[in-house]
Amino acid sequence: MSFESLGLSHNIIKSVNKLGFLKPFPIQEQAVPVILSGKDLMGIAQTGSGKTASFVMPILEKLQNEDVKKDRNIQVLVLVPTRELAIQIEEAFKAFTPTLKRDIKTMAVYGGVSINPQMKGMYGVEVLVATPGRLLDLIDHNALSISKISQLVVDEADKMFQLGFDEEMNKLFKMMPVAKQTLLFSATLNEKVDEIKKRLTINPTLVEV
Ligand code: AMP
Repeated sequence: MSFESLGLSHNIIKSVNKLGFLKPFPIQEQAVPVILSGKDLMGIAQTGSGKTASFVMPILEKLQNEDVKKDRNIQVLVLVPTRELAIQIEEAFKAFTPTLKRDIKTMAVYGGVSINPQMKGMYGVEVLVATPGRLLDLIDHNALSISKISQLVVDEADKMFQLGFDEEMNKLFKMMPVAKQTLLFSATLNEKVDEIKKRLTINPTLVEV
């Protein structure tokens, strides 16, 4: 199977080639067409499976075709449990943005560093990768709004609960619109993951690798 046959256009494929990806990994074969179709997804996948690119590619494919107003409304929110993962995922988005149809601004925000540069850099950001606590702080400071997101990704959902982000996530979910595409990823399925799956997704396609 090729990247083209998954429904990705030449703008994305140019970056795929630059990155040296020869063919899609199984999770990408399964997840990319589902995400492009607009359906919700529950992905059970480990680090190393290629799960990051499985959502980065179709999200940018769709977003590059949208005419988005520059303001403080985030379009795509990726929630992650750790700073390391936030940085890594934002770098994956950045690897694809140079070949897109239009400029798409991405950013990673996380705790443990000064909030001021993050606040100042927020204007015009369309794709935000964030840890829950810092995201709530930034929203409290009116640095951004998540009330108009069109896509939500929750990555490593099981780890989110292990690290005790239940309360923060709850608050954040209440600030999001009901109508959006939701992609939930977890290394394992447990009761808590199943609970947020039920709460956040509508008839999700299950992808397991
Ligand atoms: P992840 O599981 O998202 O952390 O990705 C693991 C590693 O696989 C990353 O270094 C990616 O750049 C790389 N990768 C993702 N998709 C492919 C692919 N189709 N071919 C080769 N490498 C890939």
